[in-house]
Amino acid sequence: MIDVKEALEIINHNLGSFGTEIVPLSKSIGRILKEEWRTDRDLPPYHRVTMDGIAISYEDFAKGQRTFEIEGVAAAGDPQKEKKKDGCCHEVMTGAILPLGCDTIIRYEDLSIEDSQASINLDVITKEQNVHFKGSDRSMGELVAKENTIISSAEIGLGASIGKSMVVVAKLPTAIVISTGNELVDIDQSPLAHQIRKSNIYRISTVLNSLGMSCDEAHLDDVKEVIKEKMQDYLEKYDIVLLSGGVSKGKFDFLPAVLDELGAEKLFHKIAQRPGKPFWFGKRNNCTIFAFPGNPVSSFICMHRYFVEWLGNSLGTSIRRPMYARLTDEVHFKPDLTYFLEVKISSSPNGEVLATPQKGNGSGDLANLVEADAIIQLPRGKNIYEKGEVHPIYFYK
Ligand code: AMP
Ligand code: MG
Repeated sequence: MIDVKEALEIINHNLGSFGTEIVPLSKSIGRILKEEWRTDRDLPPYHRVTMDGIAISYEDFAKGQRTFEIEGVAAAGDPQKEKKKDGCCHEVMTGAILPLGCDTIIRYEDLSIEDSQASINLDVITKEQNVHFKGSDRSMGELVAKENTIISSAEIGLGASIGKSMVVVAKLPTAIVISTGNELVDIDQSPLAHQIRKSNIYRISTVLNSLGMSCDEAHLDDVKEVIKEKMQDYLEKYDIVLLSGGVSKGKFDFLPAVLDELGAEKLFHKIAQRPGKPFWFGKRNNCTIFAFPGNPVSSFICMHRYFVEWLGNSLGTSIRRPMYARLTDEVHFKPDLTYFLEVKISSSPNGEVLATPQKGNGSGDLANLVEADAIIQLPRGKNIYEKGEVHPIYFYK
């Protein structure tokens, strides 16, 4: 049995590599950018008017002029206009190019306009006010998004403005999520007294979906020969195989032996943690295998703590930024194991992130996952975690 730290080291030494692909910008949300983006023009690309009103030359105002003849109108989308006569102004709309010969904008709110004459009702203005100058945000060719950025709506908007209709992103691995166990029936069936509905497969596959991945799903009864035959196929076909159940010490927990017989390399089996102790991790050729224990809370926590970290690092980024929270209650936990405790996260008026334990009934209590929204990682080697202690948290909602 190894420590959580060691398990993470092993996971991070056995990352996958899936290459890149080119996708339309509009389909790239949540994907990891595998190119750098530079602007193809200055941002903004011209001196942009930021208020509806008039454009003047500040020099005229400074000399005491307050009334200006309106010589023309510049709308957004018009080619640049030019102020031809001294002492005149142009009416300008937000988004228009600042007319040549003008440098300062006065808002309609600060004007009276009559008979094509605009009078400024202000004694003080600032030179160049209400103008967003060409290149003042970014100059042409400047780096605006680094490789390995996770593409959010903000990047999508930026990409559109610099003409990135297609983008290079990290290719996502192919995956299959497999439940095991004779007691499991499908979601739309009425279980008999000795059966339960399979739920892990939904919990696990929707975590993959939330990370932008799709996956196939399968179920295996606890029959060694069948497991072996099917697993042979799955290990060939997929980049990732995620299993739930069948990795503990029970008589019908065939997976470790089957994986061994199929030539898979066991990288670890069992971590000094609760829940999720029997987690088996390994690989065979290009396939990485996450065999989680069947208990719903165990598989869910292993998925969030280990799989999400492995996937992010395999793709070149940290999908979840590390966060920390302060325990609102004392926690007692005797075993010498890292304790992953379900917590409800809130924040205090003075800006602290608070974790309120939602202990539940252990690793089988799947209903308790709904009450919490994160797990807090409490280090082994202690029996009491005091109120106010700060520890890392992993959000799952
Ligand atoms: P196992 O790891 O196979 O010994 O399973 C441990 C516990 O988790 C047993 O009570 C199983 O019935 C339960 N379990 C296993 N797989 C699932 C699943 N897909 N959905 C819900 N519970 C499961
Ligand atoms: Mg089982």
